[in-house]
Amino acid sequence: MENPLKRKADSANTDTTPKRAKPSLPKHAKRMFIQAKLSWTDQYGRHKTHEARLLLDCGCSGPILNKDFVWKTKVPWTRREVPISVLTADGEPMKEAGERYAQDLIMRIGHHQEELSWEVATLEEGIDGYLPVGWLQQHNPDIQWDTGKMEWRSDYCKKHCLPVSIKDAVRKFVQLVEEGKPWQVVSGTTI
Ligand SMILES: [Zn+2]
Repeated sequence: MENPLKRKADSANTDTTPKRAKPSLPKHAKRMFIQAKLSWTDQYGRHKTHEARLLLDCGCSGPILNKDFVWKTKVPWTRREVPISVLTADGEPMKEAGERYAQDLIMRIGHHQEELSWEVATLEEGIDGYLPVGWLQQHNPDIQWDTGKMEWRSDYCKKHCLPVSIKDAVRKFVQLVEEGKPWQVVSGTTI
């Protein structure tokens, strides 16, 4: 037998159910870049340094330099005897990746310095390279994503990447650059 009270309650619930707000459309934030300096020694023993605009990219599995950047700045590279497979975030083979690599380039971001080896591949035009999430995990910087302020505070960086005078260094920060913004001063000191 139907319970009239329950039925009443059900219909009351139906009547008073608040209308759900229409789901908002997906929001897309601008991608964040790091402005770095890459240095190497060329075949004549000359020290070379070039600015590089690097995308923080969660989809790549290792650091990658754009072939255009490598060609243009004459970064020394080595061809693999047996190419390896490098996949993009959607699982497809990355264009012209896995055949060449650039070894032990010195990368400076503000006062943070390390040696890093890179795959060489065809990347999006205007981007000099990708830094993977694994790089972020290793150095574990403090990033304020809303302001783009990045500080090096990990024990790893203090041990491996920062100058000896880290008392001063750890107070400094790097400013990430939003896509589409003009070049700007990218390091400073917190107040
Ligand atoms: Zn570091």
